[in-house]
Amino acid sequence: MEVPTDETETFAVDKQTKKHTPLYHPNKSSKTKVSYHYNPEVANYHYGTLHPMKPFRLMLTDHLVSTYKLHEKMDLYTPRRATKDELLQFHSEDYIDFLQSVTPETVKRLSDQTLAKFNIGDDCPVFDGMFDYSSIYAGASLDASRKIIAGMSDIAINWSGGLHHAKKFEPSGFCYINDIVLCIINLLRIYPRVLYVDIDLHHGDGVQEAFYTTDRVMTVSFHKYDGEFFPGTGSGDEVGIGKGKNFSINVPLRDGVDDESYVALFKSIMQGVIPKFQPSIIVAQCGADSLGGDRLGRFNLSLKGHGSCLNFLKSFEIPMVVLGGGGYTPKNVSRLWCYETAVLTDTTLNGKIPNYGGTYQWFGDEGLHPELTGKIENKNTKRYLESVLQNSLEHLRYLDYAPSVQMYEIPPDL
Ligand SMILES: [Zn+2]
Repeated sequence: MEVPTDETETFAVDKQTKKHTPLYHPNKSSKTKVSYHYNPEVANYHYGTLHPMKPFRLMLTDHLVSTYKLHEKMDLYTPRRATKDELLQFHSEDYIDFLQSVTPETVKRLSDQTLAKFNIGDDCPVFDGMFDYSSIYAGASLDASRKIIAGMSDIAINWSGGLHHAKKFEPSGFCYINDIVLCIINLLRIYPRVLYVDIDLHHGDGVQEAFYTTDRVMTVSFHKYDGEFFPGTGSGDEVGIGKGKNFSINVPLRDGVDDESYVALFKSIMQGVIPKFQPSIIVAQCGADSLGGDRLGRFNLSLKGHGSCLNFLKSFEIPMVVLGGGGYTPKNVSRLWCYETAVLTDTTLNGKIPNYGGTYQWFGDEGLHPELTGKIENKNTKRYLESVLQNSLEHLRYLDYAPSVQMYEIPPDL
C-alpha cells in the first residue's frame, strides 16, 4: 500500500516524507510474529435493531486497523468456519443441532419449554444466520490456535472472538458458541498449561466453568461483581474444585474503577500468577465493555489503561492468543482494538485518525483517544482493592509449583 498523496490535517507531505513512509512509528524492530485472523463476513449479521451487540463494530475495527496500515505489520488470514465436529469438542450435539436448524421463522413455532431449554430470549435471540455467524468467529479462534501451534505466530489476534459466556448446552449473554473454550481445548493438545486472562466488564463464566476442575487451565477474570450484575457469578470465593482448586481466580470490582487502580491491581496479580503457573501460552479476552462510556459499562478505563494490561501480558514474551469480547459503543470498541493491535505490533499511532479510508466520519475530531474516564463514581476504596488483591494472591500460596501434565491425557487431534 502507498501513503495517500492527498494532504489532510493529519497527513501533510513535506520534503522528508517519501512515498512509502508509514504513518506509524515503530518503537523497535521486533521479531515477534503477529497474525491477524479475520473473516469479514462476520460483520454482516444483525442480532436485531434494539440489541446492544453490533457485529458491524468488527468491520469498523478492521477498517481502522487498515487505515493505520497495521495490516502491513501482521500475517493476515481469512479463516474458514469451524466445522460441526470442531464445535462438538465442547458443545453438546443437541444444542449444535438446534443452532444449526432453527430460524427466525421456525422459532415462532417452538414451545416455551424448548425456548427455555436453549435459553432463547432477548439476550440471545434467534436471528438470521446465527449459526453461520457463530461458526465464523469460532473458526477464527481455532485458526489462531493452529497458527500458534504450528510456530507460525507468536501472537494471534481474533477480535471477532472472545464470546466467554456461552455454555456447553446453551447460549448466554449474547454468546452462542464459546470460541475461547474451543481454542483452549485445541491448545491443550500440545501445551501443558494454558493461562486464560479476561478483562471484559463481565465475569468470564463460560470459560471458568469449562475448566473448573482442571489444573491445566488457570482462569483469571477481572470484572464488575455485586452478586446481581450479569452473569451473577465471579465472586472471589469461586476458586475451582478438585484438581482445579485454586486454578480459578476472580477479581470482583465495584463500579467506576479507574486506570490507576485497575492497572496496578492487574499487574500485581499477574506478576504473581505467571511465574507460579508458568503457562506455555496465554489466551487473553479483551472485552471492550470495561472502557468508560460503554453503553452497558460500569467502569472508567481508558484505551491506554486497558491496553497497558495487554502490554503487560505481552512483556512476559509467552505466546498469546488475543481475542475480543463485549463492547457496546461500537466506535470505542474499534478504537480500543485498533489501539491494542498497535500495542501488540510495537507500533505507536498518531492520535489523530488519518482522514481517508472511509471510516473517518465515524470518529471525527475526537481522534483515537476520546475522554472516556470519570463518568461513573469510583466505588472501589483503597481498602477494598487491597482486600481483593490479598484474596487473589492467597490462592497462589497454594500453588507450590507449576502442575505437571501426563502427556497421555492429551486428546487426539481433530
Ligand atoms: Zn462483557
